[in-house]
Amino acid sequence: VGVFYRPLDKISQVIETYPKGIAGFRSFLALLATEPDILDRPGAIAVGKLRGDLRFEGVSFGYTPGRPVLKGLDLAVAAGQTIALVGPSGAGKTTLCSLLPRFYDVQAGRITIDGIDIRDMTQASLRGQIGIVQQDVFLFAGTFRANIAYGRLGASEADILEAARRARLDAVIEALPQGLDTLIGERGVKLSGGQKQRLAIARIFLRNPPILILDEATSALDSETERAIQHSLSELAAGRTTLVIAHRLATVRNADRIIVVTTEGIAEQGSHHELLAAGGAYGRLHAAQFAPEEAAV
Ligand code: ATP
Repeated sequence: VGVFYRPLDKISQVIETYPKGIAGFRSFLALLATEPDILDRPGAIAVGKLRGDLRFEGVSFGYTPGRPVLKGLDLAVAAGQTIALVGPSGAGKTTLCSLLPRFYDVQAGRITIDGIDIRDMTQASLRGQIGIVQQDVFLFAGTFRANIAYGRLGASEADILEAARRARLDAVIEALPQGLDTLIGERGVKLSGGQKQRLAIARIFLRNPPILILDEATSALDSETERAIQHSLSELAAGRTTLVIAHRLATVRNADRIIVVTTEGIAEQGSHHELLAAGGAYGRLHAAQFAPEEAAV
């Protein structure tokens, strides 16, 4: 990745600078709305909870003039479906996902959710529809409770506990001296990579958005922790429209549809078996990336 600033990091970048400077809390969404580059259109509507029918229609986008990353991309994902995005590094999988919360705006075409152009929604209400799980989890010095409640400020104790349970964080919390009141961070307990991931998952359960973006880790966790987290992630994805930037065979196999993204655009789409039978781009990618994993099972 080098010096490039990855689009999905933008969300944590914005958040990370926040608790340092300001003592009280404003809402997570209010914070995101303070981003300067993309503004709400006059008359933008604050949408309520959407179903999560996604459509990319002729979407083009590039970071630098004359170097398009996405060219006239068409993609439809029905509400509740899980699609796995696979393809070579640099093909544009992360870029495609980062257009959905409007970290960047399309340069041609449009993206709609439930038929509404995302530029016609307020950014706060748009981003309220989307949960993002990525490798880096933002934590702040404070209690476990506050860190989970960051997903939905003002959530009740019962809702926080329920989100923790669904993320399988309850056993961790029970084992701590002050339970939910235990401090985490520099002056409190240090969390393992797996526990941090669970905390991120709990936040999203609490917020309950209809759309999920999962940027699958390529490494970092040991395989047992990884399997346990995968389990929580598939529960999190159930009933939500989910885009996974997939690096694991199990993920692509379980997806409703696999989208093979190359620098030329979407090369193929279908189920694991359909695409293997077709013997095209997915077949080659599978042989290179996933076949060793399959042989080891
Ligand atoms: P990977 O599997 O490595 O994450 P990817 O398929 O997600 O790759 P993107 O990260 O979307 O690919 O990158 C697509 C192209 O856009 C690449 O050529 C990349 O170098 C470029 N790119 C990504 N982010 C930026 C940025 N912030 N500024 C300029 N170019 C960028």
